[in-house]
Amino acid sequence: MAKSEGKVNGATLMARALKQQGVQYMFGIVGFPVIPIAIAAQREGITYIGMRNEQSASYAAQAASYLTGRPQACLVVSGPGVVHALAGLANAQVNCWPMLLIGGASAIEQNGMGAFQEERQVLLASPLCKYAHQVERPERIPYYVEQAVRSALFGRPGAAYLDMPDDVILGEVEEAAVRPAATVGEPPRSLAPQENIEAALDALQSAKRPLVIVGKGMAWSRAENEVRQFIERTRLPFLATPMGKGVMPDDHPLSVGGARSHALQEADLVFLLGARFNWILHFGLPPRYSKDVRVIQLDLSAEEIGNNRQAEVALVGDGKAIVGQLNQALSSRQWFYPAETPWREAIAAKIAGNQAAVAPMIADDTSPMNYYRVYRDIAARLPRNAIIVGEGANTMDIGRTQMPNFEPRSRLDAGSYGTMGIGLGFAVAAAAVHPGRPVIAVQGDSAFGFSGMELSHKNP
Ligand code: ADP
Repeated sequence: MAKSEGKVNGATLMARALKQQGVQYMFGIVGFPVIPIAIAAQREGITYIGMRNEQSASYAAQAASYLTGRPQACLVVSGPGVVHALAGLANAQVNCWPMLLIGGASAIEQNGMGAFQEERQVLLASPLCKYAHQVERPERIPYYVEQAVRSALFGRPGAAYLDMPDDVILGEVEEAAVRPAATVGEPPRSLAPQENIEAALDALQSAKRPLVIVGKGMAWSRAENEVRQFIERTRLPFLATPMGKGVMPDDHPLSVGGARSHALQEADLVFLLGARFNWILHFGLPPRYSKDVRVIQLDLSAEEIGNNRQAEVALVGDGKAIVGQLNQALSSRQWFYPAETPWREAIAAKIAGNQAAVAPMIADDTSPMNYYRVYRDIAARLPRNAIIVGEGANTMDIGRTQMPNFEPRSRLDAGSYGTMGIGLGFAVAAAAVHPGRPVIAVQGDSAFGFSGMELSHKNP
C-alpha cells in the first residue's frame, strides 16, 4: 500500500485504532474499497477471517464480541455489502451485544454522482444500532473508533457502525496531524443503592413461591461466580433463559428448567436477573404468569424497568456488581429458602412428570428418528465445556431442553430477534475465540440452508 515518508493512510489508521481499542478479530468479505483495511488489520496483528456472505460475517463479529467481552469487527464492502451486514447489526442490537461494523463507501467526492455501489449507508444503519457515523477525514479515525467502541460497550451494549469512504481509506495524512484517542476501558460497573438491595432480599424472604430467572445479561456481565454464590446461599429455585443457560449449570439441583411452564405460571415472585419480559419470557403476563406475581428486576438499563410488568423493587446497574452486593448483604441475614416447601415439592413432581412424558420418545428407536432420539446420541457425546449453537424451530427449542450447558456463554442461538441464519457465523466465531473447546452447531435443515457455505472454512 502506498505510503509516503512521515505519512500514514486511512486504512492503517483504522487498523491501528481498532487494535488500540482491543479488537482482536475481524470477520469480513473484502473487495472495493476495503481491501487495504483488511491488509492493514492483519499487519497490526488482528486476526482476519474471510466469510462467504456479509450476513454471516456480521453474525460472527457479534458472537466474538459476546464471547470476548469487547466489540469485535466486521468489515464489508460498500452498498450491497453493507446492506447484507445490516442483518447482523440489527441482531446484535436486539440481543444487547456489542459489535463494530465497518462499511466501505464510495468516495465522498463522488457523492450523489451514481458512484459504484453508492448508498446512504449511515442513514440505513442508524435505526438499527446505537451509533452510526461517517468518517470524513483520515486524521479523525482514532476519534471515531473510540466513540464507536465506547458506545457499543458502555451502558446497554449494542451495535455501532462506521462508514469508511474510499478517499478516506486511501487518504494520506502526516502522522503528526493525527489526533490520538483514549483507549476505552472496561465498562463501569454501577451499584444499586443499599436500601434497594435490602428491599430485594426482604421481598424474596416474604415470597412463598419464589423464582429467579437468569438471563443472558448476566452472562454478558460475567456474573457467573456471583450468581452461583447467590443461588447456593439462598437455595432459591432458578430458571435460565435460552442464552442464560450455563451461568448456572443446567444439572444444578435448584434448576427448574424441567418444569419451566409450571414454575412461571405458579411463582408468586419472580426475580429477573439480566433478562427482559419480552416474547421469550411471555411478556411477564397471564396466562403464562399469575396475574398477581410480584417482580424484582435487575437490569443495567433503567428504561427496561417496569416494561410490560411493574417491578416492586428495581436494581439498576451491573449484574455482577449488584449480585455481589446481594451476597454481601446476605452475610448479615440467617435466611435461606427452606429445603422442604410445597413449592419445591410441586416443582419436583412436575419435573418428574415431564421427564416421564419424554422418556418414551428418547427411547424410541424407530426410523426416522424423532428429535428427542437424535439428541440422546448428541448429548451423550457432548463434553461439559462444549459451546453449543442451536438454530431452527423444533431443532432449537427441543435442543435447548435436551443439550445441557454447564458453563456461561456456551449457548448461542437465534436470540431475542429470532434470526435464522446465525448458526455457522456464530460457530466460526466461537471456534476462533475458543480454539481449545469443541463447538457444536445443531441446525434444522432450513436453518442450515441460510448459511451452509460457511462450512467451507478452514478451522480458524
Ligand atoms: P434473555 O434473552 O436471556 O431473556 P434479554 O436479552 O432479554 O435476555 O435481556 C438481557 C438484559 O440484560 C437486557 O435488558 C440488558 O439491558 C441487560 N444487561 C446487559 N448487560 C448487563 C449488565 N452488565 N448487568 C445487568 N444487566 C445487563
